[in-house]
Amino acid sequence: TAKDKKDGGIVVATNKLVAQFEEDKNLEKELKKALYTEGIIPYFQPKVDLQTNDIVGIEALARWIHPERGIISPVVFIPLAEKTGLIQKLDFLIAESTIKKLKKWIDQDLVSNDFKGSFNISVKTFEEEDVYEQIKFLLNKYDLPGKNIEVEVTENIFINKLSKMLDELKFLKEDLGASIALDDFTAGHASLRGLSQLTVDTLKFDKSLLQIIKENSEKGKNIYSTLVKLSKDMGYTSVAEGIENVDESDFLKKEGVDYGQGFYFAKPMAEDKFVEFIGKRDGNSLYKERLVEIIR
Ligand code: C2E
Ligand code: MG
Ligand code: MG
Ligand code: MG
Repeated sequence: TAKDKKDGGIVVATNKLVAQFEEDKNLEKELKKALYTEGIIPYFQPKVDLQTNDIVGIEALARWIHPERGIISPVVFIPLAEKTGLIQKLDFLIAESTIKKLKKWIDQDLVSNDFKGSFNISVKTFEEEDVYEQIKFLLNKYDLPGKNIEVEVTENIFINKLSKMLDELKFLKEDLGASIALDDFTAGHASLRGLSQLTVDTLKFDKSLLQIIKENSEKGKNIYSTLVKLSKDMGYTSVAEGIENVDESDFLKKEGVDYGQGFYFAKPMAEDKFVEFIGKRDGNSLYKERLVEIIR
């Protein structure tokens, strides 16, 4: 009967929920363990000067190297970490690892003195922790100047303690000399509000903006151009995310976007691969040659 079916449906749905919940609980336990056993590591994606092709920095992106499941995407475990209060630990782990590697690469002359490493700090982390104090401690610990780091933040309309976050960003910038980037620009409806509230140096144009161009070429290009103009008029550095082909790269270069990231240049890589990628250099020129080589 219909009732049986309905009840049956509910039972199935409930079992599914329980299974999901248990799965989450397992994942949560595993995530916690991974955080304390170097199971979570940063991959590094090069950031390229679109005018010169020089590699000017990297973004650190968390990867969970799971013994059975393989490499798990942050799209899966960042929301879980945010939900379970593990995000602060995760964010500072990636920040510390990035600061440590930057120091090493600069000392080894693998990258230049003004090479910049970006990492992502969740709004949740800003709510719970003294981000400025923590980052200051890490920079001191590894003796890395603040100008070598960039903190990527996203706007979130549900943020609590907004004024605390604004203060932290101000100190990171003014006291430590770190750059601040507004990530995923225009991906969410809150981006323009974020722009008006946060003190940022850099706008990172979300990869969904390039998707608009694919779907509606002329209109999409106009939207992108207008946002680049806004960014320039307001004095921000611009970074385009998600560049996947030469047409996109050429378009963004023509529009005068400063930097780009995307699979067209390089995917996020484990440290050994990144070091191989960037190679030994003589001035900045080798970056360019290597990059051109890789692009071909
Ligand atoms: P995000 O910060 O906006 O990072 C950019 C994402 O775009 C990365 O995804 C990167 O791998 C991907 N990407 C780069 N180039 C291309 C391209 O050409 N095409 C396409 N389709 N994608 C490209 P990923 O690594 O999966 O990270 C997803 C998000 O997870 C990040 O977005 C960031 O919001 C978050 N995340 C990653 N690591 C951390 C972390 O340590 N802390 C926090 N709080 N969030 C993190
Ligand atoms: Mg980011
Ligand atoms: Mg981004
Ligand atoms: Mg994004």
